[in-house]
Amino acid sequence: MNPSRDFQAMTEHVAHNYAPLPVVAATGEGAWVTDVDGRRYLDCLAAYSAMNFGHRHPQIVAAARQQLDRLTLISRAFFDDQLPDFCARVAQLCGKDRVLPMNTGAEAVETAIKVARKWGAEVKGVPPERASIVVAHGNFHGRTITIVSFSDDQDTHGGFGPYTPGFRSVPFGDAQALIDAVDDDTIAVLLEPIQGEAGVIVPPDEYLATARRVCSERGALLICDEIQSGLGRVGRTFASDLWGVVPDVYVLGKALGGGVVPVSAVAADADILDVIRPGQHGSTFGGNALAAAVGTAVVGLLETGEYQARAAELGGPFHQGLTGLVGHGLTAVRSRGLWAGIDVDPQAGTGRDVCLRLLERGVLAKDTHGSTLRLAPPLVIAEEEIGWLVDQVAAALRP
Ligand code: PLP
Repeated sequence: MNPSRDFQAMTEHVAHNYAPLPVVAATGEGAWVTDVDGRRYLDCLAAYSAMNFGHRHPQIVAAARQQLDRLTLISRAFFDDQLPDFCARVAQLCGKDRVLPMNTGAEAVETAIKVARKWGAEVKGVPPERASIVVAHGNFHGRTITIVSFSDDQDTHGGFGPYTPGFRSVPFGDAQALIDAVDDDTIAVLLEPIQGEAGVIVPPDEYLATARRVCSERGALLICDEIQSGLGRVGRTFASDLWGVVPDVYVLGKALGGGVVPVSAVAADADILDVIRPGQHGSTFGGNALAAAVGTAVVGLLETGEYQARAAELGGPFHQGLTGLVGHGLTAVRSRGLWAGIDVDPQAGTGRDVCLRLLERGVLAKDTHGSTLRLAPPLVIAEEEIGWLVDQVAAALRP
């Protein structure tokens, strides 16, 4: 951090929809970034888990470079030679028949909602005015009008009405509330298996399996938003794997683009995804050749199982180290794999205070909801760096 830099003047023409910490990144490699003054930081936000494989992963960058020299975009009006393999590999990773590629996470969630509504009307036979999708309190699925319509976070939701109807929200982790909310008009249940933006909220063990069961019994689709929780972060390919649950629809994003280009996707079986026919949904950039080449390289990394294993293994010391700070500046730690939500004791300051202290110590982290920090280092972090990170957190909790 350079206190003499005039960040306000520097960002005069940047809209104020973020409140960035005072650091200006210049380069990145693996788990580390270097700022314009040459200071190094361990990147523990990892672009909200978009950088699961680290900055400029050699295989991902090589795939992007190679594709840049061939073809970048032809649009879905034609075929290119990258998309079929990308979709086949994502389909195989998910154990599904079909993949519908998009760009950002929010677009993929919108796609899943559109698919569910069309499936609800055409296959389940629920009249559109009665159809509902059950979601969870504290959810974060993106920023479109429809998605913010069913958010209960005031910053995310407030002031953007009129809102999209057709959603019913129940407390996250409360299996009985979910069972009670799903009825014959429910076309889908949309959940993050572990809530990310809410502060890495891990539901009780039976929760996701109950959601699976109730959806199967009532003929509703279980849609798992694995945009932040998926692709190796929790020590498994998908967070739903932690509970042995297979949703009807996977929603993927963030790390699928390897931190190079936005790549998102919806994966489901043909009897669900085939409700979308030519002309009914699409995106100019969705599934472009560059994105497909990068996404295929990402799936190639996941196919080795190496990153999932790494997150599972390093998750042990990560969890243990952070748990040791409860009572010493932390009030709670929730973690799975290399993903932790830590609640800061108000006596140690606000979440942002702790982030600023971490910045001085060479760690990039971001607070959420005032007093919680999410720690999500790239999965390529070295084992010895975990101990170093825990030491920095311990020091930053001392005001
Ligand atoms: N879904 C989840 C679970 C997320 O965490 C996010 C972003 O944080 C999104 C959807 C939206 O993704 P994007 O910002 O790429 O639109």
